[in-house]
Amino acid sequence: MVQAAPAAQTGWSSEDEAQLFEAIQRWIDREVRPIAKQFDHADEYPTALVEQMRELGLFGATVSQEYGGLGLSAAAYAKIVEMISSVWMAPTGIFNSHLIMATCVERFGTEEQKRHFLPLFASGELRGGLALTEPNAGSDLQSIRTTARLDGGRYIVNGTKTWITNGIHGSCFALLVKTDPQAQPRHRGMSVLLAEKGDGFSVSRKLKKLGYKSIDSAELIFDDFEIPADRLVGGEEGRGFQQVAGGLELGRINVAARGVGLAAGALRDALQYAQEREAFGKPIVQHQSIQIKLADMATRAEAARLLVAKAAAKYDRGERCDLEAGMAKLFGSEAGMENSAQALRIFGGYGYSTEFDVERYYRDAPLMCIGEGTNEIQKIIIAKQLVERSGGSLRWSNSGPVLMAR
Ligand SMILES: Cc1cc2nc3c(=O)[nH]c(=O)nc-3n(C[C@H](O)[C@H](O)[C@H](O)COP(=O)(O)OP(=O)(O)OC[C@H]3O[C@@H](n4cnc5c(N)ncnc54)[C@H](O)[C@@H]3O)c2cc1C
Repeated sequence: MVQAAPAAQTGWSSEDEAQLFEAIQRWIDREVRPIAKQFDHADEYPTALVEQMRELGLFGATVSQEYGGLGLSAAAYAKIVEMISSVWMAPTGIFNSHLIMATCVERFGTEEQKRHFLPLFASGELRGGLALTEPNAGSDLQSIRTTARLDGGRYIVNGTKTWITNGIHGSCFALLVKTDPQAQPRHRGMSVLLAEKGDGFSVSRKLKKLGYKSIDSAELIFDDFEIPADRLVGGEEGRGFQQVAGGLELGRINVAARGVGLAAGALRDALQYAQEREAFGKPIVQHQSIQIKLADMATRAEAARLLVAKAAAKYDRGERCDLEAGMAKLFGSEAGMENSAQALRIFGGYGYSTEFDVERYYRDAPLMCIGEGTNEIQKIIIAKQLVERSGGSLRWSNSGPVLMAR
C-alpha cells in the first residue's frame, strides 16, 4: 500500500515564492538558455550549471528546512521544473532523481539517517539518484535480481542496475535490492540501501540516447560491494518496494511538470515562428491550419498544467495522490510529446534543422512517457485506483493486474 505523503509545512509566503521564481527565471535566461543547444549537441555534462544549481538550493528543493533544504511545496517545485524544462529539460534530471532519493530518506529513513544524509543531499555535497531498474526488470520491479546478503554488520551486494540517471557524476544512490530473494509475495523480500560509491561499485558504461543529452545515464555493477547495515532505509528489511513507490509520487509530478515545460516551450517557439515566417504572402499564423495547431497546443499545455497543480496540491496536503500523479504524468508527458511534434510541423523544414530548439524538444519528449513508470503502467495505476475508489479492487499477479470482484 502506498502511503500518503506528510502534509507540507513550507513556511514560504507567496511573495517569497514569487521572488524565488524570479531568481530562477533570471538564472535560466542568463545561464541555461545560452548553453542548451551547444551542450546538448556535444552531449557534454553541464558542470557549471550544477554548481549554480547548488547555489540556488535546488538539490534541497523539497528537503525540509529542518534538514537544510528549501522545504518547497510540490506545487512550487513543479513550477520550477516546468520553467527550466520549457528551455532545456535535461538539467532537471540532475536534481530530480536526487530529490526522490532524498524524499525516500526523509519519509522512511531512521532519524540517524535523516540527520546524516539529508543536509549532505540538500547542499548538493552528496549527489546521486535512484537505482531501481535492471537489465531484466523495469516496469516489473519485483523481478529484480540484485541481492544484498547480511553478513555481520554489513550487506554484501551483487547485481547490475541500468539506465541510472547521475550514475557517473553522482556518488550516492537509493539502491533497490532483494534481501530475501525467496520471499512471497516478492515485494516482502525487497529493501532500499543507501549506497555510496566505493570498492565493488563500478560504472560499467555510459548509455547512448536519442535525447536527454548531457545527463549521464549509466549501467552500474555491484560485485561483492559492502554497505554498512545501518544504511538500510528505515532499519527494517522488506519495505523497499513501498518506499520507492512512495517516492515515485513526487517523481511523477516532476516528470509531468517536465512534460508541461516541453509542451509550453514548443508552443512558445511555434507561436513566435508562426508570426515571423511567411508563406503565400502572409505570416503562416494567418493560415487556419496553423491556428488550429496552436490552439490545440495551448489547450493541451494548460490542461496538463492544471493536472500537475491538482496532483501537487494533493501531495502537499499529505493525501494519497497516485491517481492524480498518474493522470498528470500520463497527460503531461503526452502533451510534451504531441506539442513538440506539432511545433516541428509548424517550423516546416527548419523544424528538422539542428539550428532551432524544436528538434531537441522532439528528441527529449519521449523520455517523459517512459520514466517514473511508463504511460502504459500509469494507465494501470489509474484504473486500479478508479476501481478501488469505487469499491472494488485490482491486485497484481505475475502476469499483470487482475480485477477482483468484492
Ligand atoms: C533516459 C532514462 C533514464 C532513466 N533513469 C532511471 C533512473 O534514474 N533510475 C532507474 O531506476 N531507472 C531509470 N530509467 C529506467 C526506466 O524507469 C525504465 O526504462 C522504465 O521503468 C521501463 O522499464 P523497461 O525499460 O525495462 O521497459 P519494460 O518494463 O520492459 O516495458 C516494455 C514495454 O512493455 C510495457 N509493459 C510492461 N509491463 C506492462 C503491463 N503490465 N501492462 C502493459 N504494458 C506493460 C511497457 O509500458 C513498455 O511499453 C531510465 C530510463 C531512461 C530511458
